[in-house]
Amino acid sequence: MPEEARILLLALGSNLGDRDSHLAKALELLSTLPGLELWRESRRRLTRPVGGPEGQGDYLNTVCSARSSLPPGELLRQTQAIERGLGRRREAEVRWGPRVIDIDILVYGELILNGAELTLPHPRLRERRFVLEPLAEIVPELPLPPDGVTATTLLERLPPS
Ligand code: ATP
Ligand code: CA
Ligand code: CA
Repeated sequence: MPEEARILLLALGSNLGDRDSHLAKALELLSTLPGLELWRESRRRLTRPVGGPEGQGDYLNTVCSARSSLPPGELLRQTQAIERGLGRRREAEVRWGPRVIDIDILVYGELILNGAELTLPHPRLRERRFVLEPLAEIVPELPLPPDGVTATTLLERLPPS
């Protein structure tokens, strides 16, 4: 892994079909990407869907940490290719509707981006218990951009749900 590798935090979720198998396959495909080295995975948690249409199934969620030297745009292309490979068809979806797999880039090193395709850190990271809880499990002390606050502190600050 070259010098410019960054710490990468990803969130994965599935609420259609064999959710556990979709998460496992996505992680396996991520682990085969050149320039990406998976490190830790959190415990998988069942969570109620937030937003989106009524009546959709619960999500199985996880987060993982990795080291990666991929350029951020390439990383997004690769994660979206994995989503498509597992059968996700974004053009047929409603916002926050059911999906076989969702891979969100939560944090990529110190990068702050506000592009049309990619926002870093993920804009809704700090309001999502289903993301902060597993992050506090695998990287409790890691300072998160832009201000260095840890997932543990963000979780403590979250209003009760
Ligand atoms: P949310 O972002 O609220 O979790 P979602 O995961 O359902 O919603 P998607 O339909 O999967 O949203 O993605 C919509 C678009 O978000 C993607 O096409 C992608 O270009 C963009 N995007 C922006 N920032 C990120 C990021 N950090 N990680 C993944 N996708 C991102
Ligand atoms: Ca998402
Ligand atoms: Ca997404």
